[in-house]
Amino acid sequence: MNHPIVKNSITFDLPVDDVSEWTRIGRHNKRTKNLIIIGGYITIVISLAWSLFFLFVGFNFLLFTCIISIFTAAVQIALAKRNSVIVAAVLMTHLLFLTVTFACFADISGDGIPQSAQMNLLPIAAAAFLIFEKNNLYLRALFPAFGVLLFLFFELGLAPQPWPNLLIPIEIRTVSFWFNTLSGVLAASTVISIMRYTRKHERTLEAELRSAVSRGEFRLFYQPQVNEQGRIYGVEALLRWHHPTKSNVSPAEFIPLAEETGLIMPIGDWALRTACAQIVQWSKSPKTSELHIAVNISATQFQQPDFVQQVKHIISKSGASPAKLELELTESALMGDLEEVTGKMLALKEIGIRWSLDDFGTGYSSLSFLKHLPLDQLKIDQSFVRDMLNDERSSAILDTIIHLGQTLKLDTIAEGVEHENQLLILQEAGCAHFQGYLFSRPVPIEVLDDLIASSFPNSGKYPLTNAGLPQERIPISLEFSRATA
Ligand code: C2E
Ligand code: CA
Ligand code: CA
Repeated sequence: MNHPIVKNSITFDLPVDDVSEWTRIGRHNKRTKNLIIIGGYITIVISLAWSLFFLFVGFNFLLFTCIISIFTAAVQIALAKRNSVIVAAVLMTHLLFLTVTFACFADISGDGIPQSAQMNLLPIAAAAFLIFEKNNLYLRALFPAFGVLLFLFFELGLAPQPWPNLLIPIEIRTVSFWFNTLSGVLAASTVISIMRYTRKHERTLEAELRSAVSRGEFRLFYQPQVNEQGRIYGVEALLRWHHPTKSNVSPAEFIPLAEETGLIMPIGDWALRTACAQIVQWSKSPKTSELHIAVNISATQFQQPDFVQQVKHIISKSGASPAKLELELTESALMGDLEEVTGKMLALKEIGIRWSLDDFGTGYSSLSFLKHLPLDQLKIDQSFVRDMLNDERSSAILDTIIHLGQTLKLDTIAEGVEHENQLLILQEAGCAHFQGYLFSRPVPIEVLDDLIASSFPNSGKYPLTNAGLPQERIPISLEFSRATA
C-alpha cells in the first residue's frame, strides 16, 4: 500500500511497505557490525592468550592457527568499520570455523577429560544463523547446520585423532575444558543478545518515525543562501518533522535515528524528490529559474552501492536540471574506499550536480583528501562563525579555510551567520556566500516565495525576513560593499 506524502502542493507516493524492510536491514546491519567488531576484539584477546601459551610449550601448529585467528579478526574488524558487513561476516564465520575445527582435532580426549574445543563451534553456528537470516541457503541454513553437526561429531567423540603427538598435558586440558565450555556458552549468549537486543524507547521512537514517514509528517523548509549583494542565489533544503504531539522535532534528533534504522533511505529519497520537484517548479519562472537547491545526503545514503543510479533516476523522473542541484556531504560520508567515493562523486558531477562539503573544519580528513575529491564548495562549519568574534583560533581557522578554498578553486560558503559584524569580517576575509539567521531562518516554501519576490532583482538589504527571529538578532539594514562574486 502506498501513502501519499503531501508537501507544498507536490504529492508523492512513498512505498511504505518497503519501509519496514529498510528499517530491518538498517538495524540488522548495525547489529551485525557491532557483533563483528566486538567478536573480533574478543577473538584477538583469546587467541593472543592461547598463542603465548602454545609458543611457550612449543605447539607450533596450534600457534599457527591462533595467529591466523588474530589476523582474521583484525581484517574482519577493518572490513566492518568500512561497512563491508557481509564480507566481514562471511570471513569471520568461515575462517573461525576452520581454525576451531583444526583445534578440535588437536584437542584429543583422554584421562577422563572430554574434548572441549568444539564448544566454540556453537557461537559460530549461532552467529551465521542470525547474521545470514536473509542470505542464500548455504549461508543461512547449510553452514550453521554443518557447524552444529560438527559440534555433535566432536562432542560424541566420533572424531579420529590424526595428531596423537599433539596431546596437550592433562593439567592444561583440565583448564581448557572449563575455559572452552565457558567461552563457548558466553560467546553464544553474547551473539544472541547482540543480534536480538531491542530497547523499548528505541522501538517507540522507531515506530513513531515509521508512521511519520507513512503519514507524511515531513516537510522541507528552505534556508536562503545569499551572495555579497544580499541576493538569494540558492537555498538549503532542511527537513522538518511535524510530530502530532511533540510538534516540531529537530532533525538533529531524528536524523541519527533514521540513519540507525535505515529509515533515512525513504526519507532521504523523499527529500531529494521533493527538492527536484521544486527545481522543476522554479524553472518555469525567470525569477526563480537560476536558483539551486542544496540537499543534505547522509553517510548511509551515500554509501549505498546504487546511490548514483538512485539520484540519476530521481532526476530524470522529475525532469529537474541537475545543474540546479547541489548535494551536501559531511566528511563521515566520505570515509571508506577513496576511489569508490570519488567515482560516485564524479558520476554525478558529470551530469552537472555540484558537491559541497558540509561542516567543513570539524572532521579529521587530511588535506590530500581535498585534492582527490571532485568538490565544488567548502561549507565552513557554523561553530567557527559563531566563535570568530571571541576566539582568535576560530577566526584563524576561518581565514585558512577561505584561503584554502581560493587556492583549490573551490567556492566557500559560511553558515550560521547571525550578526552583521560576522558578515563583514567574513567578507573582508574573502568569503562571498553566506547562510544564516542574519538573512533568514529555514522557512516553508510559501514564505520563501515571498522572500525571493522581495529580494529580486536585488534589494541589497538584510534581513530577508525576520520570521521567527528573536528581536535582538534583527540587524540594521546595510548596503553590501563588495561586488557580486
Ligand atoms: P546542517 O546540514 O549543518 O544544517 C544547518 C543547521 O544549522 C540547520 O539546522 C539550520 O537550521 C541551522 N542554522 C542555519 N543558520 C543558522 C544560524 O544562523 N544559527 C544557528 N544557530 N543555526 C543555524 P537544522 O535544520 O536543525 O538541521 C540540523 C541537521 O540535520 C543538519 O545540519 C543536517 O545535518 C540534518 N538534516 C537536515 N535536513 C536533512 C536532510 O534532508 N537529510 C539529511 N541527511 N540530513 C538533514
Ligand atoms: Ca547541510
Ligand atoms: Ca552544516
